[in-house]
Amino acid sequence: MAWDSEKQLLFSGSFDQSVIVWDIGGQQGTAYELQGHHNKVTALCYASLKQQLISGGEDSVIVFWDMTVERKETPEWHESDCCQRCGRPFFWNLRAMMDQRQLGLRQHHCRYCGRAVCDRCSAGRASIPVMGFEFDVRVCDPCLTELKDMDHTSMATFHDAKHSIVFMDLDEPRKQLLTVGQDRLIKVWDVSALLHCTVTQENRDVTVLHQCNSHRKEKRASIVSFQLLLFFVTVQESHHTHFV
Ligand SMILES: [Zn+2]
Ligand SMILES: [Zn+2]
Repeated sequence: MAWDSEKQLLFSGSFDQSVIVWDIGGQQGTAYELQGHHNKVTALCYASLKQQLISGGEDSVIVFWDMTVERKETPEWHESDCCQRCGRPFFWNLRAMMDQRQLGLRQHHCRYCGRAVCDRCSAGRASIPVMGFEFDVRVCDPCLTELKDMDHTSMATFHDAKHSIVFMDLDEPRKQLLTVGQDRLIKVWDVSALLHCTVTQENRDVTVLHQCNSHRKEKRASIVSFQLLLFFVTVQESHHTHFV
């Protein structure tokens, strides 16, 4: 778990690959998900000065989430016995299946509007960074059209830690990130390049945005962009490592 005291956001990692952001300060009972890992999220750190949330997972990936940007809450999933787009029945809706003389369909949900839809009405996939979906997710046809004009610029950067992470700690003043892996290695990363590029509300002009966006793409393409500083080999259970 991690905590942003200024915005009163609580972050918690979850076993289903996502990070949940609880907006405690807003007092609206809102929460949203950040999905950028392919396996369990095992560690979270928050760089409060730069408003960057850092998540580490069993997929050996470290994600830096830009928390200066506003994200939308994920919609609640609708309950329905029929596809809310084409009206064909889902497989438990026997009566409608009889009436319409057709087989029932599997139910899916559009991640953008939350409607219960059939596979045929939700064939499209899109990333929705503004909702925390950094990967392509299922969306229904009308939402796909709407999302085409939307900005799909990533609001996070992805980095290969080259070990499955069990623990992380951030030294924000020194801009160093420590990761402990399942391989019993401790790595200390220089993350100064990542902690200096944030788009703050005040300087969100075109030039800054452009620079940061191109910077982001670069990082995503090359994946490993932060430098490994130190490398501790074999953390024995019998030896206590006095590091932090
Ligand atoms: Zn349908
Ligand atoms: Zn939709």
